[in-house]
Amino acid sequence: MEWIGFVVGLLVGSFLNVCIHRLPLSLSVVRPRSRCPQCGSPIRPWDNIPVLSYILLKGRCRDCGSRIPWRYPLVELLTGSFGALTILRFGLDATALVSFLLVCALLVVTFIDLDHHIIPDVISLPGILLGLAASFGPGLVPPTDALIGLLLGGGVLFLVAWGYQWLARREGMGGGDIKLLAMIGAFLGWKGVAVTLFIASLTGTLAGLAVMLRRTEGMKAAVPFGPFLSIGAIAYLFRGPELMRWYLGTLG
Ligand SMILES: [Zn+2]
Repeated sequence: MEWIGFVVGLLVGSFLNVCIHRLPLSLSVVRPRSRCPQCGSPIRPWDNIPVLSYILLKGRCRDCGSRIPWRYPLVELLTGSFGALTILRFGLDATALVSFLLVCALLVVTFIDLDHHIIPDVISLPGILLGLAASFGPGLVPPTDALIGLLLGGGVLFLVAWGYQWLARREGMGGGDIKLLAMIGAFLGWKGVAVTLFIASLTGTLAGLAVMLRRTEGMKAAVPFGPFLSIGAIAYLFRGPELMRWYLGTLG
């Protein structure tokens, strides 16, 4: 059954590309139809088949020949793979759907944060509500856990941001990160918040060091935190119990 998840994921991934491109520009994700960013020609439906069209067109626009970014098929493949993984992990049910929606939101957040260093409220705020609502039905955690996760996720990063600002006298963490971890908490509960924050700090610090070692004098490269929170949350979603044991092991 995993192939259903893969095919649906590919199609959803194609839509996520539209969201990643248009949401930060405050454009509608429904219309108009996709156009080539270079020549403006509308993309024909048969040239809009996930991954396959990119291969057949050899990564170039049919009309003007300009390069199609390889990130488009990458996002489609990632979404397809997570679609298959979700069904492998949860089976074909409503909990799998909730999990897949969370993964989609995290993928969109990751690429928008990498491009623009923002995390749009139109993803995180409805996400918080969806996570809470799902906890009363097919969600991953019961309602009390979702609520504690939401408050803990938002609260921890709020304190970090406040503390940093107080000590360094400048803003470090954005409000977008706070709302994102609150959303993750609403879906994954307080254990999910703890593991997500741990993995995000670890991978984020490593990436930050790598950027610092490579950057030239005077250049200040801020590393966005959203992608690392997303990596942590996705890892917890698929490997929660194992990660929880590892996390407790590193504490003790
Ligand atoms: Zn073109």
